[in-house]
Amino acid sequence: MRSHYQVVIIGGGIVGTSVLYHLTKFGWKEILLIERDELTSGSTWHAAGGFHAQNDDPTIASLQGYTIRLYKEIEAESGQNVGMHMTGGVSLATTPERWEMLKAEKSRFQTMNMETHLISPEQIRKLAPITDVHDVIGGLYDEFEGYMDPHGTTHAYAGAARKRGGVIALKNRVLEMKQNPDGQWLIVTEMETIAAEHVVNAAGLWARKVGNMVGINLPVTPMQHHYLVTDDIPELAALDHEIISVTDLEGFTYLQPNRKGVLLGVYERNPRHWKVGGAEWDYGMELLPPDIDRISPELEIGFNRFPVLQNVGIRKWVNGAFTFTPDGNPLVGPVPGLKNYWVACGCMGGFSQGGAIGLTLANWMIHGDPGYDIFAMDIARYGKFASDDSYLKAKTAQFYARRFVLSYPNEELPAGRPLKVSPNYDALKNAGALYGVTWGMEMPQYFTPGQTDFIEKPTLRHSNAFDFVAAEVKSTREAAGMFESAVYARYEISGVDAEKWLDHLVASKLPKVGRIKLAPTLNQNGKLMGDLTISRLADDRFWIIASYYLQEWHMRWFNENMPSSGVTIKNLSDDWMGFALSGPNSRKIISQLVNVDMSNESFPFLSCREMEIVDTNAIIARISLTGELGYEINVPVSHQSALYTALTKCGKDLGLVNIGNRALDSLRLEKSYGIWNAEFTQGYTPEMSYLKNFIAYNKGDFMGRDAALKEKETGAKQMLVTLRVDTTDADAPVYAPVKHDGKVVGFVTSSVYGHYVKQSLTLAYVDKDVINSELTVDVIGESRKAVVLNEPAYDPKGERMRM
Ligand SMILES: Cc1cc2nc3c(=O)[nH]c(=O)nc-3n(C[C@H](O)[C@H](O)[C@H](O)COP(=O)(O)OP(=O)(O)OC[C@H]3O[C@@H](n4cnc5c(N)ncnc54)[C@H](O)[C@@H]3O)c2cc1C
Repeated sequence: MRSHYQVVIIGGGIVGTSVLYHLTKFGWKEILLIERDELTSGSTWHAAGGFHAQNDDPTIASLQGYTIRLYKEIEAESGQNVGMHMTGGVSLATTPERWEMLKAEKSRFQTMNMETHLISPEQIRKLAPITDVHDVIGGLYDEFEGYMDPHGTTHAYAGAARKRGGVIALKNRVLEMKQNPDGQWLIVTEMETIAAEHVVNAAGLWARKVGNMVGINLPVTPMQHHYLVTDDIPELAALDHEIISVTDLEGFTYLQPNRKGVLLGVYERNPRHWKVGGAEWDYGMELLPPDIDRISPELEIGFNRFPVLQNVGIRKWVNGAFTFTPDGNPLVGPVPGLKNYWVACGCMGGFSQGGAIGLTLANWMIHGDPGYDIFAMDIARYGKFASDDSYLKAKTAQFYARRFVLSYPNEELPAGRPLKVSPNYDALKNAGALYGVTWGMEMPQYFTPGQTDFIEKPTLRHSNAFDFVAAEVKSTREAAGMFESAVYARYEISGVDAEKWLDHLVASKLPKVGRIKLAPTLNQNGKLMGDLTISRLADDRFWIIASYYLQEWHMRWFNENMPSSGVTIKNLSDDWMGFALSGPNSRKIISQLVNVDMSNESFPFLSCREMEIVDTNAIIARISLTGELGYEINVPVSHQSALYTALTKCGKDLGLVNIGNRALDSLRLEKSYGIWNAEFTQGYTPEMSYLKNFIAYNKGDFMGRDAALKEKETGAKQMLVTLRVDTTDADAPVYAPVKHDGKVVGFVTSSVYGHYVKQSLTLAYVDKDVINSELTVDVIGESRKAVVLNEPAYDPKGERMRM
């Protein structure tokens, strides 16, 4: 072992060894993995080793596919058997709602290039003859599922990495670490102190503790998980092949073949955390005592689903711990605020996701970009709020208990709420607000004026909240609506070099003083990094408005590209709030509150100005996401209540209503406006989306210009279009496939009912060569005719917002 390495990886589980493998494979040298004990000494050793490619997020699904395909490669490279059993697997539906959901899933998986099959109870019996199917409607079968040998797989990554020069130090715990002023990390271990340029925290069950060594508190915590393994089952021993894996979604259990018996795992509804801050340092390869009473309700369902279990011996009970994050996805990437400190932890499905984490992290470290849109795994999707123990416990318990429970897009789950609220929380609640949440901040979804006890039914179709949203849309189009913009992120950029810096960071031209610009920002590789709205308040002072939940992500991006002096960025997101007021009467409303001429001549579309409102200095921008005449009014939080009271009073006789996020979505799709994390992500490029129209290719150098120019020349295969979908009581789910002649030619990014234009509208990326052809979109598994609209469904010339 040397005293200096380029990278030190802490942790020799399935994730750490995959990171080691990928870094060495992609050509980095001098990589050391340090392991406290032996390889697999954390969660990895007692994992059931099951794997599958299915995931709600299409990028993660395709990366899980990558992980599974990689196993043959590392086996061949290392010579170590990975014990792969590609048995196939089925998810059961025992309710009509689940069956409908599985149909929708099947078509969504087609977008992800995954061919799954809906199969009958009889087919399930053939593939897994020990299953009682008396109440089964059908199942979703995927042949790309199975299980691995956890020990063999980890050693295969390690062996292949060693052959490529990777070094592994066992029985050597990392005790502490610090960063020198020159950026070099000093890692103090039981054996010696090692210097490294980069550190990767892949410490699994101990990741939170290893994070504490550098002053960070990661939103990750261990939870208990049980499975049992049976003795041989004569019915299975008599077969000359393995049965498939069976997941009983309504039964909270999964079953895998195991030698001539089976393994039955449980996702119980009453889960337990274990060592919330991370395992003890001396925790060995031990099992926790089984807690059979606690999991007995789910076990009972499992023993009825697979009746042979009632007559077979149990060879072993496993109660082990593995880590969860609030949304169940891993934590990957550079930790904001720490140079060259990376995380690869929080992984609850190491055998489906280990390869994905290694690949994307290695890409990121080497090329400055994970190579895919992995926001769903990015550590920067969370802020500090997510690491609070009570929040973390509530969210992870909710995730665990609902692992197999049907989730609907219109559901708002209760865990960890309310965490952050605006000063108007109670007032809006009294006005009938039904809240959702974004990044811990409560956000009205819609209002039920006069109905305090309204309960929305979870559904894949239009819900019983439909009429409330329709009324908000109508009022906004015909009078005025106000949306509380507590869920906007606000950044102030100032300083002598602010203009120069921002001009290089964004791809559009900067606005003149008093004006606003929509500004895409790209990374070096031409990938989208943001769709920012920039208001210029002075020569050297700018405001950026972006999505609230992207604060950590954007601040990391800004800081990574920040000069050492001349520019200051302030994140004002929790200091300022406001309302987005829009609709034909909005000028009359705002004019009562300010001493400024708000006429079109003196304050035209895309103007911004500081002005006094409700006794405070506000920043008011003439812009709207609804496509109507509108104003975004930003005030210090201290004046948020006063602003609400004043707007309500002045709008009373002008038809002003409260509107929520659902109405906003309907209004924006009627205008074909895209938003981040739907139409715009790191995975898409300007040439695909209409953001290319905002790029000033000739303004001089800017970040990502070469890549953007190259893409402009070659063009993109797909483009963003608006579709009118021929459907009645449901809109197309996100990622549903768009088809031509039965072939997938695109996918849905957003769908909503356009309440004012009375059409089901969808934004989708579609192959350019078929946009004038006959298209269909799958709506909950059924094919529906879709027509490309050549212009927005509402006010195509954009006259309303300019009036
Ligand atoms: C009962 C059970 C069943 C499971 N079934 C499945 C399944 O079927 N499929 C699936 O995909 N996943 C399953 N899992 C989850 C799976 O085990 C995890 O996703 C995976 O093991 C996480 O791997 P890791 O490398 O991130 O962490 P770990 O395996 O915990 O590895 C972390 C390593 O870091 C080392 N380390 C920690 N701190 C230090 C330090 N200071 N210095 C040096 N070394 C350190 C530890 O010794 C350890 O070896 C299961 C888990 C359990 C408990």
